[in-house]
Amino acid sequence: MRRFFWNGESEDESVIIKGDEARHISKVLRIQEGEQIILCDGQCNDFIASVERIESNSVNLKLLERVLENNEPSLNATLYLAYTKGERLDYAVQKSVELGAGEICLFTCKRCITSGNDRKLERLNRISVEASKQSNRSKLVKVTDGGSFSDVLLSAKGLKLFCYENETVSIKTIMGELSNDVSIMFGPEGGFEDEEAKQAIDAGWRSVSLGKRILRAETAPVAALSILMYQEM
Ligand code: SAH
Repeated sequence: MRRFFWNGESEDESVIIKGDEARHISKVLRIQEGEQIILCDGQCNDFIASVERIESNSVNLKLLERVLENNEPSLNATLYLAYTKGERLDYAVQKSVELGAGEICLFTCKRCITSGNDRKLERLNRISVEASKQSNRSKLVKVTDGGSFSDVLLSAKGLKLFCYENETVSIKTIMGELSNDVSIMFGPEGGFEDEEAKQAIDAGWRSVSLGKRILRAETAPVAALSILMYQEM
């Protein structure tokens, strides 16, 4: 059954969807009245719903039953990604959502050659919604701007992993310490400066290596999440 996100509002089990999601249901996928879909509120509340009425700009649905199982990992991984050029960020966000990231926070640091703006964030959030739907997730992964490197160093929670290209200590060594929350940080195309690595370690982050080869900024989060999600299999 296809999945769609809505804002969680309903009245007597009845839901009205408008905008992009409505168009996707009726025009793109040509779902017909009487068919069933899965509606997700983006916070892990999923329902089977029947399509009651399709109008030009909206779709009316009825919630039938709650779906108790979901595909969310028990590990809540927050990714801290330094701003990189457009396509790299698009790729990193799409793949990270597929792999089970819980949240994505962007930041600027010394070697960033680009920064954020509202349009970029909107675009990345759209990519995130599409990736959630495609990968059968029940959670909408928010992409936000966390500000500067120093800001995000202090706001992160759980076990904090600083992925550093000059590190020799493997990420493998911390696998036994994983609990509910993990924060993982990645640098931009030019990497982190030594001074930044020092600052992160002073703020309680653990510097880890993802292997002997240097990965591109958009590959590193994919590799790290694959390693961390191994324990969920
Ligand atoms: N230009 C830099 C590499 C930057 S890679 C250089 O040539 O040294 C971009 C980011 O990906 C890095 O800042 C780091 O966060 C992550 N990364 C890439 N390869 C890594 C590795 N082998 N171990 C840990 N982190 C890595």
